[in-house]
Amino acid sequence: MKRILLLASVVLPWYASSCSELYARERAHEPVAPVEQPAAARKARNVVLMIGDGMGAEHVWAAWLSNKGALNITNLPVTGFSITTCASHAITDSAAGGTAIACGCKAIKGQLGLDAAGTPNDSLAVQMRRAGKSTGIVVTKTVTDATPAAFYAHNTSRYNTAAIAEALVGAGFDVVAGGGAGDFTAEQKEKLQKSTRLFELAAEKHCPPASERGDWLPERVKMALDVLEQDADGFFLMVEGSRIDESAHANDFPETVRETLDFDRAVGVVLKWMKKHPDTLLVVTADHQTGGLSLLGGNKEKGEVQGKFSTFHHSGVAVPVYAAGPGAECFTGVQENTALAPKIRAAAGIKP
Ligand SMILES: [Zn+2]
Repeated sequence: MKRILLLASVVLPWYASSCSELYARERAHEPVAPVEQPAAARKARNVVLMIGDGMGAEHVWAAWLSNKGALNITNLPVTGFSITTCASHAITDSAAGGTAIACGCKAIKGQLGLDAAGTPNDSLAVQMRRAGKSTGIVVTKTVTDATPAAFYAHNTSRYNTAAIAEALVGAGFDVVAGGGAGDFTAEQKEKLQKSTRLFELAAEKHCPPASERGDWLPERVKMALDVLEQDADGFFLMVEGSRIDESAHANDFPETVRETLDFDRAVGVVLKWMKKHPDTLLVVTADHQTGGLSLLGGNKEKGEVQGKFSTFHHSGVAVPVYAAGPGAECFTGVQENTALAPKIRAAAGIKP
């Protein structure tokens, strides 16, 4: 029995990671033309930060191939890399990765909004709100999940959901959209309904996967922009393509590509909106790479791509950063994930 278990533990992961899978896109979506870079001296009144959870360069290029060699993400004029290591590990998780992006400090794996010494750090959302801007989050997993939570909670565990939910109620966001209705009491939901201008918990737990979600994410991003643009002082919006990570953890290649394409369509909504609102900084990045994905084949003309995962977990590679709008030029080169928040603050002209 022991031997069978041992054999299974060796063979099953090998089997899962040695099969490459084909994804063929039926109909490509049309990406939005590149935005023109404004004069460097202009300040970003609005900031849209879009995080593809687990979205490495490989996930982006898989989506690019399947969308016949064109994406909104790859149309952004400035590109760089973000180093994802956290304070405790070479390979981070979404809590420490989200904290690095949100708060600009390296964190311990599994912890939210705390630096390595355990000191709470304010997130970009808090700092933007203090500067008089409206704030919002739109995600496809629960709104209490690690990435969004890094923008409003301080907790030694990403799994202290009740405390995280209470922190969201007190966060003062103007827009809250995602899954996680089951994480809140009726009273908490009532409070959020009253304090926000757009509030939707679309599922008890996570929103459905991309193949069942339709246009939910692109539509919610458009709704969020419509609400937030009413603030003359500008706004900060964080959008997460949360389930890219989940499908890559499951080594489900077609769904990983579909999630990345869905996220790209949401990026297209922002790019289109930016044509009328050029005083907006858009930063698209990831917290880490999931699945150790590699691309083994494909056909750009046919929209086909062949991918293979090497792990069910995260991998340690640096992830891409794409930027457009005022201050975008600062995001070029290889940077620590903790450098993103100060650069976003500088572009928006706000203090920590
Ligand atoms: Zn993950």
